[in-house]
Amino acid sequence: MNYDVIVVGAGPGGIFTAYELAHAGRGLKIAVLELGKPLDKRRCPIDGKKIKSCIRCQTCSIMSGFGGAGAFSDGKYNITNQFGGTLYEHIGKTEAIELMKYVDSINLSHGGEGTKLYTTANTAIKRVCLENGLHLLDAQVRHLGTDINYVVLENLYNELKDQVEFHFETAVTGIRRIDGGYEVDTAKERFTCRRCVISVGRSGSKWMESVCDSLGIPTMSNRVDIGVRVEIPAEIFAHLTDELYESKIIYRTQKFEDMVRTFCMNPHGVVVNENTNGIVTVNGHSYEDPSKHTENTNFALLVSKHFSDPFKDSNGYGESIARLSNMLGGGVIVQRFGDLVRGRRSTEARIRESFVTPTLAATPGDLSLVIPKRILDGIIEMIYALDKIAPGTANDDTLLYGVEVKFYNMEVEINENLETCCPGLFVIGDCSGVTHSLSHASASGVFAARRILEEI
Ligand SMILES: Cc1cc2nc3c(=O)[nH]c(=O)nc-3n(C[C@H](O)[C@H](O)[C@H](O)COP(=O)(O)OP(=O)(O)OC[C@H]3O[C@@H](n4cnc5c(N)ncnc54)[C@H](O)[C@@H]3O)c2cc1C
Repeated sequence: MNYDVIVVGAGPGGIFTAYELAHAGRGLKIAVLELGKPLDKRRCPIDGKKIKSCIRCQTCSIMSGFGGAGAFSDGKYNITNQFGGTLYEHIGKTEAIELMKYVDSINLSHGGEGTKLYTTANTAIKRVCLENGLHLLDAQVRHLGTDINYVVLENLYNELKDQVEFHFETAVTGIRRIDGGYEVDTAKERFTCRRCVISVGRSGSKWMESVCDSLGIPTMSNRVDIGVRVEIPAEIFAHLTDELYESKIIYRTQKFEDMVRTFCMNPHGVVVNENTNGIVTVNGHSYEDPSKHTENTNFALLVSKHFSDPFKDSNGYGESIARLSNMLGGGVIVQRFGDLVRGRRSTEARIRESFVTPTLAATPGDLSLVIPKRILDGIIEMIYALDKIAPGTANDDTLLYGVEVKFYNMEVEINENLETCCPGLFVIGDCSGVTHSLSHASASGVFAARRILEEI
């Protein structure tokens, strides 16, 4: 065998697998194969001047490369079992939280010291939410910020590069079982290993599916979350974000009893494009450095849809809606809330005259032509509900960007060791369908590494 362990994908899941294996001091031969570039070579061509929107690069530098989808993220590490994934269903609630805390300690010792840990414990905001039919979920949130998150990744890479072989711009094309391990194919060469950990994230979802097909690993369809990104003046949410930074709030709509939730809150942040398999959707992040703060706060409002029978392709449904917005807007569409509720499209002039300045150059349009009525009705109802705890949320000038889609990988059947029915083949992080966040994906990497260390 070339290697004791091959890790496919250098996102948080892959990095923390490699970190834990390398730090065991067992002299294991470890390789990380990553489709994207090293951290310092990752550049999104959008400069806001010559290139204003996504040009659909063959390999998206936002999603791929050392650091994975998390590299330019807001670096919010949520320590909770209430959202961010269902890792606890496999490894237990206590161990899941312990591992998330362990990951937090590594981030702190690699450049994250001094960043703030927010908590929902004992907050009066919970009661105010309940009085208005809103439910605040419990969590501790470490906010590294995009800038410190980058420093942490840089430090982790510098420490790991002498103990782990990193192969960048190396897409794995196939995995085959062989006697005592696995054969891992790339366009350039073939590697072999005793244990293989796959952590290819959401961007690797289609490839993951093909691996499961070829190795006979059972999968289950997962949900898709569809919605918009809301952008408001930061003052409107300041009483929530100053205390909690990120508040995960759930609302059950009166009309359809659907659940709508807030997701990925970025105080003083920016709204950005996200490219998943050529489909442009919207996301957001913010910096820890006050000099990079904007005047706006953004967050997503999402509704989950899960299809099972006869139609099973939840992601395909989300993709179709995102494609429709790309067709009408050439990318992401932006609309004023006032225009949406009056049933008219937003125009360049209306956006220009708005009191909220957009942080993303999106195409003014009409989201009601893209988002299914039931989902849009739920989002509008939630905006009015949020207006009760944060007056101003339902102002005419509130900006809605669409569509935001959270694709979840189909759930790969893995056991309590995060191992598939193929012995020695582990599937972790977001590509397993089990995690959907930096903290859960990283924790799953540490967990898989520890199981491997026990076995080898
Ligand atoms: C803009 C943005 C902001 C976000 N903000 C937050 C946040 O603040 N907090 C939070 O908890 N989560 C956030 N997320 C989600 C978070 O980034 C992911 O949950 C996390 O990165 C998942 O880690 P992972 O290792 O499972 O996968 P990924 O980070 O997606 O990494 C997978 C890696 O595998 C590589 N790969 C794919 N296919 C192959 C292949 N065939 N061969 C080799 N390599 C391959 C990819 O290039 C990628 O680098 C954000 C995501 C985005 C896009």
